Amino acid sequence: MRIDLHTHSNRSDGTDTPSELVRNAKQIAGLDVVALTDHDATVGWDEAQTAADQIGITLVRGIEISTHYDGHSVHLLGYEFDPHDPALTAELAKVRGGRDTRLPRMLERLADEGYEVSLEDVARHSVHAAASGRPHVADALVEKYPEKFPHRSAVFAGWLNDGGRAYVRRYSAPLVQAIGLLKAAGGLAVIAHPWSSSRSHGLTREVFEELVDAGLDGIEVDHADHTEDDKQRLRQIAADLDLVVTGSSDYHGQGKPQPPYGLGGHTTDEEQYRRLFDL
Ligand code: AMP
Ligand code: ZN
Ligand code: FE
Ligand code: FE
Repeated sequence: MRIDLHTHSNRSDGTDTPSELVRNAKQIAGLDVVALTDHDATVGWDEAQTAADQIGITLVRGIEISTHYDGHSVHLLGYEFDPHDPALTAELAKVRGGRDTRLPRMLERLADEGYEVSLEDVARHSVHAAASGRPHVADALVEKYPEKFPHRSAVFAGWLNDGGRAYVRRYSAPLVQAIGLLKAAGGLAVIAHPWSSSRSHGLTREVFEELVDAGLDGIEVDHADHTEDDKQRLRQIAADLDLVVTGSSDYHGQGKPQPPYGLGGHTTDEEQYRRLFDL
């Protein structure tokens, strides 16, 4: 069984529609199970479910929530929760609001440096998305200044990445609270790519212990942003704390290079999948 538990559609910053994503998952990547985990939004679920039922692939309905712990950004995967839970939906609306309010400030910073794109330019690249993200800003810059910025990554490097010249912080949910909200809404919580950046302040074993107490179910270990050493150490922490180990592509369609972020490029073991969803 081939299982990929972390992908993005154009309802956030991927480029496939939810149905295209599900179709590609089955027909191109040969997956049996795919999770749709758009950033801070569940608006793609219905379309993805309809497509999954039509072509015969198991859809896991998920999300990737922007959170923070100790001042640092942490991405939290949530699965199969009640999408109408009032407390959770209120917090997600707050996170999406923070995405949109920082946008004008990022554009001002870029304009100060001589790169002028308008809110409308960005909006054209995020028409299908529940909220804007840095990749949509990047797309607008790639379109207007292709020689300076040939692709999304060129805009992130030194400009939009954390601490970059045009980077502006935004609201994110407190991590422990977000885990609690997912669990209270009947869902599962898995930390996404925990050591993808700034290893020095990465989530430590002690922090994972606290997160287990908050209800954490698993750790995404097999991810393109982790080194082999990261994976080995994270696998040990998961084993010691009795957490499920997942693996996934973090596919963004054309928005991220494939490989290493191609659909099914990293996968979850069937046994771990069954344990996570109590099958
Ligand atoms: P935001 O959600 O606005 O904070 O932007 C973060 C998103 O940008 C993440 O989903 C990443 O997948 C994406 N991202 C980060 N770095 C890059 C990069 N170098 N190239 C393309 N996308 C990136
Ligand atoms: Zn993304
Ligand atoms: Fe992420
Ligand atoms: Fe992601």
